[in-house]
Amino acid sequence: TLIAIGCGTAKQDMVSVKEKQLPIDRKVDSVLNLMTLEEKIGQMNQYNGFWNVTGPAPKDGDAAIKYEHIKKGWVGSMLNVRGVKDVRALQKIAVEETRLRIPVIFGYDVIHGYKTISPIPLAEAASWDMEAIENSAAIAAAEAAASGLNWTFAPMVDVTRDARWGRVMEGSGEDTYLGSAIGVARVKGFQGDLGELNVAACVKHFAGYGFAESGRDYNTVDVNKNTLHNIILPPFKAAADAGALTFMNSFNDLDGIPATGNAYLQTEVLKKEWDFKGFVVSDWGSMGEMVNHGYAENLKQAAQFAANAGSDMDMESHGYVEYLAQLVKEGKVSEEKINDAARRILRVKFQLGLFDNPYKYCDEAREKATVGKKEFHDGVLDMAKKSIVLLKNENNVLPLKKQGQKIAVIGALATDKTSPLGSWRIGADDGTAVSVMEGLEQYKGNELVYAKGADVALGTPAFTVETKINMTDKSEFEAAVNAAKNADVVIMVLGEHGLQTGEGRSRTDLGLPGVQQELLETVHKTNPNIVLVLTNGRPLAITWADKNIPAIVEAWHLGTESGNAIAQVLYGDYNPSGKLPMSFPRVVGQMPLYYNHKSTGRPNYNGGDSVFWSHYTDESNDPLYPFGYGLSYTTFKYSNLRLSNKALNANGNITVSIDVTNTGKTDGKEVVQMYLQDLFGSVTRPVRELKGFELTEIKAGETKTVSFEINKKTIEFYTANNRWEAEPGDFKVYVGGDSKASLEAGFTYSN
Ligand code: BGC
Repeated sequence: TLIAIGCGTAKQDMVSVKEKQLPIDRKVDSVLNLMTLEEKIGQMNQYNGFWNVTGPAPKDGDAAIKYEHIKKGWVGSMLNVRGVKDVRALQKIAVEETRLRIPVIFGYDVIHGYKTISPIPLAEAASWDMEAIENSAAIAAAEAAASGLNWTFAPMVDVTRDARWGRVMEGSGEDTYLGSAIGVARVKGFQGDLGELNVAACVKHFAGYGFAESGRDYNTVDVNKNTLHNIILPPFKAAADAGALTFMNSFNDLDGIPATGNAYLQTEVLKKEWDFKGFVVSDWGSMGEMVNHGYAENLKQAAQFAANAGSDMDMESHGYVEYLAQLVKEGKVSEEKINDAARRILRVKFQLGLFDNPYKYCDEAREKATVGKKEFHDGVLDMAKKSIVLLKNENNVLPLKKQGQKIAVIGALATDKTSPLGSWRIGADDGTAVSVMEGLEQYKGNELVYAKGADVALGTPAFTVETKINMTDKSEFEAAVNAAKNADVVIMVLGEHGLQTGEGRSRTDLGLPGVQQELLETVHKTNPNIVLVLTNGRPLAITWADKNIPAIVEAWHLGTESGNAIAQVLYGDYNPSGKLPMSFPRVVGQMPLYYNHKSTGRPNYNGGDSVFWSHYTDESNDPLYPFGYGLSYTTFKYSNLRLSNKALNANGNITVSIDVTNTGKTDGKEVVQMYLQDLFGSVTRPVRELKGFELTEIKAGETKTVSFEINKKTIEFYTANNRWEAEPGDFKVYVGGDSKASLEAGFTYSN
């Protein structure tokens, strides 16, 4: 009967048709019934890829132990093994040499592309284009799946309000509503219908990781339940509801309990309240880190806490494989807990079709035909253009003229073919992005002169090595000034190296790293006709540039097709429509900075004349560029905000409509945004919150009416009763092109 569960292609014909149709849960139970305690615990164990898989079997050390564990059926999952050849070799051991032939699930950080790289997730969020984002995730999934992978550790749906945190690049920014929509789009893109070009998604990091104090990665998290439920958890819930197969917990503690050992989060909220049927994997070593947190006394106790809290799979702490059987025997972890975890993991393997065909993802011909396809390049180029945000464009410096211009291109990032790939793109090779310079060179009518000016990083930055940014060398300033001197336009490409953002890369300064700011000011003295192209992975404080530079383009780290996308926008072949998914600060001291803050007891009264209101004495409270902000080569006028009804009840709805006119000479796209303010609540409420948006194309001179619906669900929040509900009262509606939208209307909700 071992064969009846359908493992191993050779034996597959023996699986009866009837058994193939068994509902997954029954199949899972039939497997579970055959398993020893150790084998069940084995499913809960995930190892990192560790040796030359297709070479000879390792003889000693860690690798030999892991190899033996695979053969015993003690490894349910591997990460960082990729490529059909390697995956097949390991899967072969699992399905041919282990007693029960249970396939391994192969996970990998496919965050924004596997080989063909999309913009970093924060950049994609700036598109507000759910279709494009879903497509981008589908491209990533297709390449990964064709390369043997079954499971991506994405999307990261952590809400992030502090640009100092390096991982803001990996999420969707500061807003819960936008972040939820994007989380759903990414889950759909990755998972599709779980076919051979799809992978399982992993929603992370559950929860609170984005609120690391002071923006310092891995730091303590201190959030209240109001923030947890209203701000942090909704994107996770949305992704779970969209069918995400797995979750990842996180490194941080929450209310004093490390997330990996947090039963409230993993069992109460996720598995019980949300009825999540998939499994939770720990973050890398996060079980063991509970000892460092001062929460567990040793790894054994950490394993006990993690298992009891509902952390189903251990990523590289080795706590389960070493101690869990013993803990069960000692009565510290119940066998039912183990069954539940193993059941969840087996279920996902069934859902992915790994039991039907463990080599489903191991097709060399498909790998060859799929990875790097032309249509994938077209897809990531499209995504890259949609991610660009025009921050400033005075005197119509942009778009650039196509003929007869002398253009100076300045900055190390202009020729960099690695930085645009951004952080977290471990499947792609360095140097595989189209640089800005290469993109500009496609346009032959102008003369280009390049000067580096200054470095953005020292040495050869690598993913696992600290990127050095303490540059002081100004020896190439002079060449940059000379290049700028006789130019009609100067394009300065400044910002962060792709590896100055991402995990472990927090900053205390949000300016341009090194001497780039000085370079900008120096060149500006010679030729102020500058287009500043920013390539970076987080909001930067560019207050001086905003005052002095006529045109600023936020180009993030845009992936493989970066330079082409930037050139098309600069030359006006693509009209930018991106809007910021995070507020841009004036100075770093404003962090954390976000539009949907609460109203204090001391808002700005007396027009700011008094000292006794919540403010700084040396800087405005306002961001430099607010959430939702972004310009176009055309202009839009908003008018005629109207509500179908001024009263809402539990079963009714209100239609909010607004007319948007393209008042310029160019066709364009606009992200129309609707915000709500709940004037009073049983707990204090944000000054406004995004509750709807629509990306719409409007021809020059055309007026479009855009509508949103408001119902009871729209106004629900986590109240003083510790549940989601709508509270009667007055609401304001704001609609416009960013979070400062000023057209307003009101309605009243009653039960
Ligand atoms: C990160 C996760 C990632 C994991 C596996 C950890 O350091 O926090 O987001 O999925 O490594 O690479």
